[in-house]
Amino acid sequence: MIETLNEKLCDLHVHSTFSDGTLTPEQILRLAKESGLSAVALTDHNTVDGLESFLSASKNYGVEGIGGVEISSVYGQTELHVGLEQGLEQAVFGVLHF
Ligand SMILES: [Zn+2]
Repeated sequence: MIETLNEKLCDLHVHSTFSDGTLTPEQILRLAKESGLSAVALTDHNTVDGLESFLSASKNYGVEGIGGVEISSVYGQTELHVGLEQGLEQAVFGVLHF
């Protein structure tokens, strides 16, 4: 368990085996619970195929599951990975990678 000062810890950028991650959505939630995280956003590359099982399993682990996606795009000569998460009080939108 990670020590905190009355703050909740979360990871808003996680990939599963539905894209280039090494853990299934359920394994991600199990690890999040064991690590003391309060919330995790699944943001696989260009797919939302893992979200249904992820969001369903999140209820079993007591970890808030947040649905998201990381969309690959190109602006000029620069490759951008744009992330969108939903499920917080308002949507979070940002560039995750250059
Ligand atoms: Zn990423």
